[in-house]
Amino acid sequence: MSRPLVPKQKQKEIALQRIKTLFEEAENNFSKNKALSNRYVALARKIAMKVKIRIPLDLKRRFCKHCYKYLMPGVNSRVRTREGKVIISCFECKKFTRIPTIKKLTKRAFMKP
Ligand SMILES: [Zn+2]
Repeated sequence: MSRPLVPKQKQKEIALQRIKTLFEEAENNFSKNKALSNRYVALARKIAMKVKIRIPLDLKRRFCKHCYKYLMPGVNSRVRTREGKVIISCFECKKFTRIPTIKKLTKRAFMKP
C-alpha cells in the first residue's frame, strides 16, 4: 500500500468531476456511437459507487435506471413533468423512471423549520 493518501472529501470531488465529464462525453458521442455513451454511463455509475456518492439529480435524468442506457430526449426517451415529478419513458426497455423535480426539493428545503 504505497498509494498516496487522498482525503475522502477530495476523492469525492474528483469523482463528481469525472462523472460530469463522462456524461458530457456521453452526450457528445450519442449521435455517433450510442454504445460508447452507454459505456460512459456504466463507468460513471461505477465511480459513484466506488466513492459512495450520488449521481446529481440533473444527471440522473440522462440515463435509464432500469437498463442504464444513456437517454436522449426525443431520440430514445420522452420526458414529461407531472405532479412535481419528472417522468422519463425509456424506449430501450419500455420502462418509466420518476424523479422528483428540483422545484419540489427547493420547496421542501424552504419549509424546513
Ligand atoms: Zn431503460
